[in-house]
Amino acid sequence: MIESITLYSHISKMHGVGKARAAQLEKLGLYTVRDLIYYFPRAYENRADVRELKYADSEAPHSYILTVSSSVSTAKLKNRLTISKFRAFDDTGACEVVFFNSSFVKDIFYVGQTFRFFGKINVSKNGRIQLTSPKYEPYVEGTALSDYHPIYPLTEGINSKFLSKLVKTATETLLSDIIDPLPEKIRLDNGLPSLKYAIKNIHFPLDVDSLNQSKRRLAFDEMLTFGLGISKSAERRRTLDGVPFKPTPIKPFTDLLPYELTGGQKQVINDIYRDTVLTRNGDKAPSMARIIVGDVGSGKTVCAAAAIYFAQRSGYQSAFMVPTEILATQHYEDLSELFMKLGIKTALLTGSTKESEKKRIYKEIFDGETDVVIGTHALLSDKVIFHSLGLIVTDEQHRFGVAQRAVLKDRSQSAHMLVMSATPIPRSLALAMYGDLDVSRIEEMPKGRERVDTYLVNEEYRTRLNDFIKKQVALGGQCYIVCPSIEKEEETEELLNGSLSDKTLISANSLELKNAVDYTKELKKTLRGISIECLHGKLKNEEKDEIMSRFQSGETQVLVSTTVIEVGVNVPNATLMVIENAERFGLSQLHQLRGRVGRGKRKSYCILVSDAKGEKALSRLNVIKSTYDGYSIAEKDLLLRGPGDFFSQNSNNTLRQSGGFEFNMAKLCDDVSLFDSAFSCAKDIIKRDPELALDEHLNLKAEVYAMLGNVSQIS
Ligand code: ADP
Ligand code: MG
Repeated sequence: MIESITLYSHISKMHGVGKARAAQLEKLGLYTVRDLIYYFPRAYENRADVRELKYADSEAPHSYILTVSSSVSTAKLKNRLTISKFRAFDDTGACEVVFFNSSFVKDIFYVGQTFRFFGKINVSKNGRIQLTSPKYEPYVEGTALSDYHPIYPLTEGINSKFLSKLVKTATETLLSDIIDPLPEKIRLDNGLPSLKYAIKNIHFPLDVDSLNQSKRRLAFDEMLTFGLGISKSAERRRTLDGVPFKPTPIKPFTDLLPYELTGGQKQVINDIYRDTVLTRNGDKAPSMARIIVGDVGSGKTVCAAAAIYFAQRSGYQSAFMVPTEILATQHYEDLSELFMKLGIKTALLTGSTKESEKKRIYKEIFDGETDVVIGTHALLSDKVIFHSLGLIVTDEQHRFGVAQRAVLKDRSQSAHMLVMSATPIPRSLALAMYGDLDVSRIEEMPKGRERVDTYLVNEEYRTRLNDFIKKQVALGGQCYIVCPSIEKEEETEELLNGSLSDKTLISANSLELKNAVDYTKELKKTLRGISIECLHGKLKNEEKDEIMSRFQSGETQVLVSTTVIEVGVNVPNATLMVIENAERFGLSQLHQLRGRVGRGKRKSYCILVSDAKGEKALSRLNVIKSTYDGYSIAEKDLLLRGPGDFFSQNSNNTLRQSGGFEFNMAKLCDDVSLFDSAFSCAKDIIKRDPELALDEHLNLKAEVYAMLGNVSQIS
């Protein structure tokens, strides 16, 4: 007798999973059979689109139904690589099918047999049409093959085929034991399918409609669970008292500013004042947890400065935490003078602050002599002990998480919290992105900002582009060149190929992208006499900071980088932003990058370089060309690409903000109106049943606890 398997059996109980495999699966977070059932694909291959060879497409993978016409021949290449080839044909043409390091295919492909292949066609150096490393399934006329094939996140040793077989077995045997936590009424009110249907079709969709319905259902569950979790934690926050700030006139502060505040800035400062002062009336009130969202350059810093001013006037200290040393220094330089005039004493604390200096700063913070300390992670040191911390400000929040903020917050439960973000998020996603923070938006820019002229060019313009860079530098300006990061590309290629074996192919494909490091070398030759540096993610933080400060000081004229420069460093002298392979970026990301220039007096330009020919890609890039408002861009991005980009760009903040929560399904679901329904549903439930103690909510409660992973977050 075999031991009977249940949802909670360890994965090694499954047929075909030995010790080694189990260990690999555990790396993917898969421990039990239930985990497997809930391991949803990250994407799908649509094999329904069968092409004839005559219409072969080298841009995207398609299905081709081909009959084998020669036996497999295998040859050795260098690097211990082998190449196996055979010929195949359909009614419209013939091609060569190629596999690397897969000599076993000789036992699969025999002359006369027909397969459905799925892959990209390419043309070899000698002009041959090739289908390289395609997926394949035996094809028998009249029998249906499934059209949507799941692509799972993988790890070394686990390929897609193996994983999907495992998932299939798990769902076939145990799906019936899964309990649907969603009360029937909610499910029907929102037109959602049953959980069993959704799970089955999310893995192995019958057709596109059942796939979409399943995505909706699972995204709804995810949002509802998340919504329940944050509604509860928001409730908990409401029961903790915030430190009371004193009524303070703002005029002495605004009188010192060299400009008039915009309407948006005034509104934000009002929100802060209301949160920290007005709602108190001598009674208890919860601490502020607010995020200021405003485009790059919209003037968020001065709002934070106002909050710091309120705190100081009320006898409280503030901590201002930023992700990089350069930013910390920049804020310190911008603010300390203003603060000095107001009698607010400012300190700067970063990793490179001298040890003796640090000691002095620690002491002054401890004694309450310092009113505000601006710094990096160095602020999180145990040695930083505040006398009376009343306000925690964090800038560019996607670089920090709640985990880190919580370290500071833990030192003073009652301190107010203010977060600043330059990522414009469509309204429908705001709650999912910002968790339980109250949101203030700045929707207008300070007057007199000149528009950054934006152009879209292709590779043919390379020489003119280089001349333009030279010209900008000659005029005394500086230039950013941004390239997409390479690792990401490799990852998707690996996932699409379903194997890690075709390393050569992967790098061949990646080379088409402008790789920051190689491109810098190239540019140094073309742009002789111009100082060029390269900034990429693999560098140590100190190195990044050094490179950035050389650029900031003007010593470096051209900075080539991957998107690590997204952080809000201000280089007013930068007049040109060149974005390579622009089609690879999300619109909001492009917009943010563009916001790095146009900060000074000189006319600035943004040049998007792309060889993309697809209508969709071009219409996206044209949005950037014609739209200059971050929110409209974000809304359009959402329409054109779905919510995935927002979740991945911001996954870090959301993830940490909400205590280890990661959106899997929500980023695949295009029906964003569903998110609002899920959140209002969550609010209703918490209102009626704050402890989720009713019978009908018990399973939901378990879900909330399981998904948020950390009981203390929500109880
Ligand atoms: P961000 O929102 O990107 O953090 P900053 O706070 O760094 O923007 O502000 C960008 C620049 O705009 C700063 O140089 C700041 O002094 C200036 N600024 C802020 N508010 C105004 C205003 N109301 N009018 C004119 N300039 C302003
Ligand atoms: Mg800023």
